[in-house]
This record gives sequence, structure tokens and C-alpha cells, in this order.
Amino acid sequence: RIVYVNGEWLPEAEAKVSVFDRGFLMGDAVYEVTTVMQGKLIDFEGHCRRLARSTAELGMANPHSDEEWLQLHRDIAAKNNLTDGGIYLQVTRGNPGDRDFAFAREGLAPTVVMFTQSKPGQAENPAAWAGWKVISVPEMRWHRRDIKTVQLLWPSLSKMAAKDAGVDDAWFVEDGFVTEGTSNNVYIVKNGKIITRNLSTDLLHGITRASVLRLAADLQMEVEERPFTIEEAQSADEAFSTSAGAFVTPVIEVDGKPVGTGKAGPIATRLREVYIEESIKAGV
Ligand code: PLP
Repeated sequence: RIVYVNGEWLPEAEAKVSVFDRGFLMGDAVYEVTTVMQGKLIDFEGHCRRLARSTAELGMANPHSDEEWLQLHRDIAAKNNLTDGGIYLQVTRGNPGDRDFAFAREGLAPTVVMFTQSKPGQAENPAAWAGWKVISVPEMRWHRRDIKTVQLLWPSLSKMAAKDAGVDDAWFVEDGFVTEGTSNNVYIVKNGKIITRNLSTDLLHGITRASVLRLAADLQMEVEERPFTIEEAQSADEAFSTSAGAFVTPVIEVDGKPVGTGKAGPIATRLREVYIEESIKAGV
């Protein structure tokens, strides 16, 4: 792969970041993942807006304008012949040249890294159409989950707990209510109504979530934004999750109990179809 590091295009084996980079030492970094489908960037504007918000919330400089980011995304896709997959970008606070908890509020140049990940398009992802089984795990992350930082240790350990349990993902539970999945926002459907947790600092404001809720409104589906419990999910008619990486993915089992029929539900499947169709049309 050809990767991007601070203005340079390099073969991945030659790309380097300082050992003093705060992204490496402190997890002082934010990221975005934009999906590429049939050569188009999906929901790019949303990812760009959230990146600007994440950097601003941490008092970090956003090193590029939206136009520059768009060009970088197009360039990296072209250099790697990427038609289906994802583009990862990370911005760290930079390299102060030593390790120190305190950092200079100004004058530190952010480190920018980008790379591509090629994978089959979502339309041809049988596991996602069939739906995921999930387990619940306690919510152990910090309390600013609305900022898309690279502090992904608990989500990684939880994904491993899911794999060890023979399922696909884990849902975090805090004070009795589900916050989100390891790397996705989550939903249940009861009596035709879609229920998903309201936005706050407790969860990431998913870009796919925003698009899917817009599509649900266009399709006259009823949506209620409020927290829900694992028990509610287990007795729901359907459940699903959303993310840039997996689009809309039905959830068919929660903590060993089938949700609804135990098969991908009609609303989740419809939203998955419509999202794939509409997001390609709107892609840039
Ligand atoms: N929640 C978490 C914790 C995530 O890591 C992600 C994506 O990586 C999402 C939700 C979904 O967000 P998006 O739809 O913007 O990919």
C-alpha cells in the first residue's frame, strides 16, 4: 500500500512516526474511517464535519480544510486502486520531542496519517445480511465517547470477548442501559417503532446513524430516541447496528436469546438495502 504521512506518499514499509508522538504515547489522537463503495466516498461530508468537531473538542488543530481532506481521500484511493473498502485517517496532537503529560497549546504540528483497507463491498457481505449475534459487556470507556479518539482498548478487549464467546460483537451497558456497540450505534424495533439512544457525550454520534435516521424518516418509519435495556432488546421484534464499516447490520441474538424470529428483520433489511442504494447515489 501507499500510505500518507505528513504530506508525503510512501510505501507502507517506509512510513514512520516519532516514538515521542502523543498519538503513540498518550492516545492523544482522533480518527475517521470513510467507506469507499464502487469508487465513491460514502457520507464524506459527515466524517469531515465530525473530524473538525473531534479536533476542536480536544483543542487540537485540524490540519486541513474540507476541500483538502477530500483531495487527500481521492488521491489515496487512486494511488491504491481502491474501489471498495475504507480510508482510515488519524490526526494526533503531534510530536513535542519528549514525553510530558502537559502539552503546548499552540505551535505543535499535528501528525497526519492515512491508509486504505481494501475489502469486498457491503452489498456482497453475506455475514452482514444474515445478522450478528452479540453479547453485553460493562461500559468501561471514558465519558467523552462523542469524541472519536484512538483510545480503543476497551472496545478491542470487548470484541475479543465476543469472539471468545463465539459471537460477532459486544454491546456496552452502563447504569442498566445500552450505550452502543464496540464500533457501531445500536437500535431495536418494537411494534414498528425504531428505538435508539439519544445523542449525548455517552456515545459516538455516528455518521451512518444520522444518514439512516434521515432515510427512516423519508420512509415514514417511526423513530424514538431514548436509551433501552438488554431485556428490551431481547424482547424486541428486531435489532440492528450501524457504522461506516458495516452499514446497517441486523442483530439477531443478544446474550444468547434470539431477537424476534432470530433472523434478520424486515425493517433492518430494508434500511440496509436503502442505505446501500442511497449512499452510493449521494457518494462523492
Ligand atoms: N460507535 C462507535 C464507538 C464507533 O467506533 C463507531 C464507528 O467506528 C460508531 C459508533 C459508528 O459511527 P459511524 O457510523 O460514523 O461509523
